[in-house]
Amino acid sequence: MLPLIFTLISLPYAPEALEPVISRETIAFHHGKHLQTYVDNLNKLIAGTEFEHMSLEQIVCKAQGGIFNNAGQILNHNLYFTQFSPAKDDNHTPKGAIMDAINRDFGSFDAFKAEFEQKGVTLFGSGWVWLAADNDGKLLITQEPNAGNPVTKGLKPLLTMDVWEHAYYIDFQNRRAAHLQALWQIINWDEINHRYNN
Ligand code: MN
Repeated sequence: MLPLIFTLISLPYAPEALEPVISRETIAFHHGKHLQTYVDNLNKLIAGTEFEHMSLEQIVCKAQGGIFNNAGQILNHNLYFTQFSPAKDDNHTPKGAIMDAINRDFGSFDAFKAEFEQKGVTLFGSGWVWLAADNDGKLLITQEPNAGNPVTKGLKPLLTMDVWEHAYYIDFQNRRAAHLQALWQIINWDEINHRYNN
């Protein structure tokens, strides 16, 4: 069996399409340089190992050290970059099952956003804040350091904000809170609802 070779995902929008929330320049570095490096590193690290025939999720659940870090960052960024759509689109408010679950588990969309932003702002150092679902469909927000993903806790990852400085420094410098608040303008809730239902 040939080994799996991981590749850089294509973006489902033009590189300038998320401006002014995420600039073309940030996309060029974040997707074109940072994510590409994780892909290149993982392909080198898994060659000839037990991991070279595993999916990203399997690697993230089984590996440690450099293989975990690079696989985790690819999985995280693949979910991150495919959850956005341009601000002019009509999909930035949750609808359907995900809206019902947000209201049930957080009280309201505004209460959910406030808790999510607060968990993003208070995550010390580099990492990711996630909306995830357990096996019963209950929603929860988790803070994951570095390359962490809630899949390692048996949860389904639905939505994420990257709080590594490389995600926002060009556009927002040190203002992480302002960046997180702005991201709601480009979250594609049709995609998040699809992840929740599948
Ligand atoms: Mn990143």
